[in-house]
Formats: sequence, structure tokens, C-alpha cells
Amino acid sequence: MSPSSPVLRSLSDRVRQVLLFELGGLVLITPPFVWLSGVPLLESLGLLAIIAFIAAVWNGAYNTAFDWVEGRLTGRTADRRPWPLRVGHALGFESGLLLISLPVIMWWTGMDWLTALIADIGLALSYVAYAFVFNLAYDRAFPIAAPAPDPAPRIETDADLSALNTLGLRARAARLAVIERADQVAALTARADWAGTPRLVLGGGSNVVLDGDFPGWVLRVAIPGREQVGEDDTAVLVRAGGGENWHDFVRWTLEQGWGGLENLSLIPGTVGAAPIQNIGAYGLELAERFDHLEAVSLEDGRVRRFDAADCRFGYRDSVFKREEAGRWLIASVTFRLPRVWRPVTGYAELAQELARRGPPEPTPLEVSDAVIDIRRRKLPDPAELGNAGSFFKNPVVDADTLAALRARPPDLPAYPQPGGRSKLAAGWLIEHAGWKGRDLGPVGSYERQALVLVNRGGATGADVRRLAEAIRADVAERFGVELEVEPQIVSVPPSGRP
Ligand SMILES: Cc1cc2nc3c(=O)[nH]c(=O)nc-3n(C[C@H](O)[C@H](O)[C@H](O)COP(=O)(O)OP(=O)(O)OC[C@H]3O[C@@H](n4cnc5c(N)ncnc54)[C@H](O)[C@@H]3O)c2cc1C
Repeated sequence: MSPSSPVLRSLSDRVRQVLLFELGGLVLITPPFVWLSGVPLLESLGLLAIIAFIAAVWNGAYNTAFDWVEGRLTGRTADRRPWPLRVGHALGFESGLLLISLPVIMWWTGMDWLTALIADIGLALSYVAYAFVFNLAYDRAFPIAAPAPDPAPRIETDADLSALNTLGLRARAARLAVIERADQVAALTARADWAGTPRLVLGGGSNVVLDGDFPGWVLRVAIPGREQVGEDDTAVLVRAGGGENWHDFVRWTLEQGWGGLENLSLIPGTVGAAPIQNIGAYGLELAERFDHLEAVSLEDGRVRRFDAADCRFGYRDSVFKREEAGRWLIASVTFRLPRVWRPVTGYAELAQELARRGPPEPTPLEVSDAVIDIRRRKLPDPAELGNAGSFFKNPVVDADTLAALRARPPDLPAYPQPGGRSKLAAGWLIEHAGWKGRDLGPVGSYERQALVLVNRGGATGADVRRLAEAIRADVAERFGVELEVEPQIVSVPPSGRP
């Protein structure tokens, strides 16, 4: 429970607490008061009843205020109050009551103020002891039940999505639900307006092209949480909620002393989206640190575990982009972070940056810092210039295709892959097709990295599609290589599925 909304007793519970307290007080404290003060029984009963009434009003006000302040400052409920605070609570109550009841005792009994004060203090001390025991017994007998979490997610209709995609494309969603817990998906699937309606799971919106308004449900994943969930001889197992910011999570693992994800620093987006395209950078892919994930079915809300083999990871690819596309919401991902850490420095640019920066044996945090610096130099910050990172995958070609290509541009970079294949640099092909830094309408190819398409302002999904098609056509014509778009193009025919 958040400290800003303390859990209080219900009104009926509070009334019961006050009535029981006052009744018990009358029964237990009147006889000794008669005996010690010399005030006759009936008069004593009358006085104590009046004080009981005053105390009842004071009790309700004081306890409510005390519980509220305690809950706000500590996030704790009154039934979990520590012992020292219980003493302070009872003393505070009685001091307040003492001040209020002194004039009443003088008026009712005719005592002078000093005698009345002594009687009042006697009463107060008795009530301090009584309040302490009573509240302890009451809290044990009637603990405060935490309210059940609301299974329904927050829902907005006709929601603006332009701030929820890093390209900054203008688009609206018929309904936007913010998913903060996995069980909220089941609450949605049970709704009458769920079945047959298009749906889109959205993380940070850094790998989607919103091509027009979305006529169905957009589920924005905001499930939090990061924790170590196990360890063995070779690795520490760390789980993160699907809504966690990817980069913040990576830095957090490094600060805990768990290396392994540093090469993937500063990739925008969420943890839940990371397995979708098996994010990769600087010689490392998510698959190499993956243990398993938990996903919620968008059909019926059931939860399923996917191990690495189930995910069938490939280069910027997984089962969630193919057979299982659009069927799951990834609620959490668990990573295996190696106990014995070695830097992954096979990527030339990173190796050079680390050599330039100094220590011959960098720590995981130092590798992360180097990656962050390289990325900041090369890639536009989506907060300043709308983009979705690399817009095309690096094409992988066989030896014959490469030989035919090499005959044309001799300086074409090609990176050997398993099976005699080679990965080409899509950015190089786009640049040499004449697109680097060139615009088409409000979108263009970024001047420092041709592979990144940017929104110069006010672009729509159709503008992005048009530019992407023009680039693809030119690269195909000039090099005979088909470029494949990396982000998900979200376009929904009026009655269909995306
Ligand atoms: C400047 C920049 C640099 C980038 N650099 C890299 C890079 O180096 N390497 C790389 O691999 N990628 C890179 N990307 C792409 C992007 O950051 C990643 O693909 C990232 O994982 C997308 O996360 P997201 O939360 O923004 O996903 P979104 O864009 O919101 O969604 C992407 C896809 O995943 C689905 N999805 C999202 N969350 C979930 C979930 N919880 N459950 C099920 N499906 C979900 C969506 O439906 C969509 O199909 C870059 C992007 C930008 C803008």
C-alpha cells in the first residue's frame, strides 16, 4: 500500500471500537474512582458518563487523525503499530482528554481546580493503562483487512497515443488500459467488449509504427518489480516486471554487482518487450542471458511459462513475432546473470572505445558507460527527435549473393555468420543508395546513421511507410537485397485484426 493512501478502519468498525472502549471504561474505572475521590456513586457515574461522552468524540477524532498520520508517514496500518508508539498514542490521547475534562470535573463536583486536577490525573492515568490494554486487545481481535486489489485496470477511451510512441506519430486508441498486475488481463478478457476486438500490447512504444488510429484495445504494460529469485553455481537469477524500464533495470543489475547485461545498456523500451525481438547490441543478444518468462494469454488471461527453447530466439526474432504474435502479454522476464563475468568486447567499436577510455580490465559498469557514450554519439534521443531506432534489420545473405554483391561495391562490409552466411550492414546499403540525411515529406533518414528514420515534425504512419518503401525499393534495385522492416507496423483495417 502506498504511504499516500493509508488503510483506515471502516466507519462501523470505528464506532464499535469507541463504544466498547467507553463501556469498558465505565465498568472498570467507576468503582475505584468512587473509593478514591469520595464522590458518591451516582454522581461519579454521571461525571464519568459525561467524560465518557467527551472522550468518545475525542477518541474518534484522535484515533482517525493518528492512524492517518501514521499511515501516511510509514505506510503502516494501526494494527501493526510498534510498542513505543502505542505508549505515545495512549499518552497523547489522555493528555488531550485531561485538558478538555478538567473544567467539567470542577463544574460537576464543585471541586477546586487543584483537587479536580488530581482527580483528573488519577482518571487519566487509569485510562492510559486501560487504553493501552484495550487498543492492543481490540487490534488483535479485529485486525484491519487490506482492501483487495482492484482487478480492473485503469481504462481511458479515445486515448491519445502520440506521447506513447517514440516516433511521436499522431494516433488515437479507442480504449487504452494500463496493466499494472498480470491478473488485470483476465479482468479484461472477461468483458463483453473484449472478444473479437483488435488489441495491441504496448511497452515504451520504441519499436512500433502506429499507422493510423487503433480501433480496439491498447494495453500499456506497467507491471513493476525487480528481484533476485535464485542462484546456482553458475548464475544469479533475476526477475523483472514487464513494465520496468529496460535501461533502468540493466543499470540496477550492474549496481547490485551482477554483470551480464551491460552491452544492452540504453536500449529504449520495457523489459516485457525485450524478448519480443530478442534485443541485441554490441555483440550481445538478450537470448544469451535469458532464463524464462511469464506471459498472460490475451484470449483467457491464463499464465504460461516460456523457457528459452519455447521462445525460439533468432536475430531480432522470437516466436512472439511469428506463431504466437499478438497472443500474449509478457508480465515478467527472468534472466541468468553469470557468476563469473567476462566482458563481451568482440564488437570492434566497443573494443576501441574501451581501449580509449583506459582500464585494461573494465568492470561491467565501465562497459555499460562505454556503450552509453557510443550510443549517445550515434543515435538520436527519441525525446528530442522522434525515431524507432534501426528501421531495417541487417540482411543476412548466402555466399553466392554476397559474391555477386561484392562484385559491385568492393568496400561493402560483411560479417561472417554461422552456416557460411554473411550479415550486411543495412545502414551502409541505405547510405550508398543515396538516402543518408535525405527527407521525404516530414520524415527522413538520420544524417549520422542512415538506418534510423526520424520524424522531423507532425508525421503520420503513412509518411513513415512511404519513406520506408522508397528506401526499400532503391536498395533492392541497386544491390538486389530486400530490406526487412524491424519495428512492428500497427495498421488495422476498419474491421480486422492488426
Ligand atoms: C533510439 C533507439 C535505439 C534502439 N536500439 C536498439 C538496439 O540497439 N537493439 C535492439 O534490439 N532494439 C533497439 N531499439 C528498438 C527497441 O528499443 C526495442 O525493440 C525495445 O525492446 C522495444 O521496447 P518497447 O517497450 O518500446 O516496445 P514497444 O515498441 O512498445 O513494442 C514493440 C513490440 O513488442 C510488443 N510488446 C511490447 N511489450 C510487450 C509485452 N509486455 N508483452 C507482449 N508484447 C509486448 C508490442 O506489441 C510490439 O509488437 C531501439 C529503439 C530506439 C528508439
